[in-house]
Amino acid sequence: MLGRLFSTAPIQSFLHRVSRMMKPQVVFVLGGPGAGKGTQCSRIVECFNYTHLSAGDLLRAERGREGSECGQLIDTFIKDGKIVPVEITISLLRKAMEETIQKDQEKIRFLIDGFPRNEDNLQGWNRDMDGKADVKFVLFFDCNNQTCVNRCLERGRSSGRSDDNRESLEKRIQTYQQSTRPIIDLYEKQGKVRTVDASRSVEEVFADVKSILDKEG
Ligand code: UDP
Ligand code: MG
Repeated sequence: MLGRLFSTAPIQSFLHRVSRMMKPQVVFVLGGPGAGKGTQCSRIVECFNYTHLSAGDLLRAERGREGSECGQLIDTFIKDGKIVPVEITISLLRKAMEETIQKDQEKIRFLIDGFPRNEDNLQGWNRDMDGKADVKFVLFFDCNNQTCVNRCLERGRSSGRSDDNRESLEKRIQTYQQSTRPIIDLYEKQGKVRTVDASRSVEEVFADVKSILDKEG
């Protein structure tokens, strides 16, 4: 039977399990390029029971995957500091969440780093994930543009990232200001943003992050 050839069993069993247990709990982690999202998320997972999913890292992995149909598109978007169509990003995020929960049913807490970055991302999330995951709050790393640029240029000396150069950074900052800030503002109006001054040292920033997470659970 076709059903046996193209089994939907893994998806069904995943959804079945999700319906039985707690919904995935999500914290969106936002801030400009170089604000320290990735660094702080690594620190968080050392102390708290969260799984860190970086949308940018997932996209870079997909870009490099042999046989990927959207590798070229992702490559162009990243270099231009543009935001990849949400269908791609959401499918990678969903897959990563599902795989995590399938391995361990207790692992339902996620830091989603670098997403949602624009209206298209937000609409895609609401369309796909509404009712399936709870967004607890947005952790916002607030950092001035100059510091962000300097950090990325510094990182660019060793990161090998195609977008840690002046040209891409200008575009990334522009995308951040024009597209991502309005999303943070929207969540702010809902009282869902927890802001940290991210222009300080990793330790100082993490002290604030820790007290937020201690409070929020
Ligand atoms: N990106 C995207 N959608 C996302 C996350 C990232 O299109 O949801 C792309 C976008 O081009 C962005 C790049 O990936 O400029 C790098 O994102 P990342 O979060 O890794 O950069 P960071 O902000 O951490 O420096
Ligand atoms: Mg990052």
